[in-house]
Amino acid sequence: MDLPFGNQTPELDVLIVGAGLSGLSSAVKILAKESTLRLRVIESNETLGGQLGENGVRFIDSEQQDMLSFLNLVQLNPRQRRSDSSSLKRCWDLDRGLTSLPAKFELNRYINMLELRMSKFRSKRFNLRERVANMEHHICQHLYFSKSRNFMLNLVEIVCGVPASEVDYDVFMSICSSCGGLNMLIDFYCNYPSSFFEISTQQLIQSILDKMHFTGITLNCKAVKVEHFKNYVQVTDDEGYKFTAEAVILAIPWNKVQKLEFVPPIPKAFLPPPAPKGRQKPHRVISQFHLGYGKSFWADLGYSGNFLNTQPMVSGHESRMSTICGYMLHSPDEQDEALETVINLLATEFGEDMRRPLECHCFTDELNVALHKPQIKPWLRIIWSSSSAVGTSYRSLMGGAVQSGVRAAVNALFVVRPQVVSWKDMLDDREKGSGERASTGILTGLFSRLNLYNVTFYSFFVLGLIWLLNLGYSRAT
Ligand SMILES: Cc1cc2nc3c(=O)[nH]c(=O)nc-3n(C[C@H](O)[C@H](O)[C@H](O)COP(=O)(O)OP(=O)(O)OC[C@H]3O[C@@H](n4cnc5c(N)ncnc54)[C@H](O)[C@@H]3O)c2cc1C
Repeated sequence: MDLPFGNQTPELDVLIVGAGLSGLSSAVKILAKESTLRLRVIESNETLGGQLGENGVRFIDSEQQDMLSFLNLVQLNPRQRRSDSSSLKRCWDLDRGLTSLPAKFELNRYINMLELRMSKFRSKRFNLRERVANMEHHICQHLYFSKSRNFMLNLVEIVCGVPASEVDYDVFMSICSSCGGLNMLIDFYCNYPSSFFEISTQQLIQSILDKMHFTGITLNCKAVKVEHFKNYVQVTDDEGYKFTAEAVILAIPWNKVQKLEFVPPIPKAFLPPPAPKGRQKPHRVISQFHLGYGKSFWADLGYSGNFLNTQPMVSGHESRMSTICGYMLHSPDEQDEALETVINLLATEFGEDMRRPLECHCFTDELNVALHKPQIKPWLRIIWSSSSAVGTSYRSLMGGAVQSGVRAAVNALFVVRPQVVSWKDMLDDREKGSGERASTGILTGLFSRLNLYNVTFYSFFVLGLIWLLNLGYSRAT
């Protein structure tokens, strides 16, 4: 590839675009290896943390090793999720109504079927088979009740960042397989089990900042153009200011990478997949809320604070005593009413006192899209990062953000100061096996495919066949 020769001396060693968890973990790793490097982080929002949001709570399980080592590095101890409310019941709309039992039954069967089939999918294998339907089609083919359908459609959208009609079955399975499985994702986004560790996002960001005392961070600075020269990269922000660096880490989700202008143009291998055929549904955004009360009103009614409504999708959990955190999926025009909708739903379940929170925060952002084949290799001096953009063992989760951030840091150091990269860093940097799954037996696989539709179809088919044989037999005698 022909790269233009620039005539500047780069002002920075490394420029990190995006101050989400992956960008910040790159900065911490680079500084831990070589504190004298000239480093800058630019962020398009007015706050740090990206998807972590403000005042939120995040969970990790003991398998997210990279995340646990990173927490150790920034000297933050995750605490075990509060378990005194685990004996109380959850408040899910799926548990209510006449159709609740069959809806939950078919949903469990469907989830188990996908989990059983997941052994065939690998995180990096996105080889699409044309005959396989998109996820909306697949869900509607296998689930009969609207509650169970809505649950799955919402889950696919949260995990992949776009409506289920735009997600191929193979892609969804590959993504789930790289996040520890579908049940694990349901735990992260809906169940919040007490076996998880809990981290306050505010504390996490603060501990990271404590490790980055002398690093320049520019907020409200959105990268729009990336020019690749032979010995450096030049990034231009939306106000025309130019940053030059020997290496650039793009710690932003892939849908945002696609919005940047690249000079020379980005190679075909990095281009987005072709848009799906047919009409596209409008993309939804996610609002994360945090509501503090003087008392846990839900506990008085016998609820644990774990809340789920599938239409509209609102999920919540008790984080600290008397505090409820969670998120809502909605269209961008409903942004102003999102918090009101959440409070109304909570008030219907837990009483009118829920309408008067003492503390109230809401933060809306786009969903990160994870639809493309994850990137691993840098493009010359441009290094990809972000949990939804590169191949990690915990794609679209915090473990993935940290793993991608640390890997990007090692790649950047390799460009600017190779002598500080040790063999240990290279080993850490290697893609870790994303939990190869044992394959299941043929019979278990076949039984897992039974659902309300095909059981009804096969029953009628067998009964019809018996009736025809009977008819033929009685005519013959
Ligand atoms: C509601 C919700 C709950 C979650 N719960 C969990 C959980 O319990 N456990 C878990 O492990 N994971 C959870 N996750 C996932 C986890 O939060 C994310 O995977 C992680 O925070 C992603 O970090 P990131 O740095 O890869 O991306 P981001 O956080 O999206 O960071 C990207 C940053 O880049 C900035 N940016 C984008 N474009 C530009 C540009 N052109 N110029 C400059 N800056 C730019 C953005 O503003 C953003 O700050 C959850 C996610 C959500 C939405």
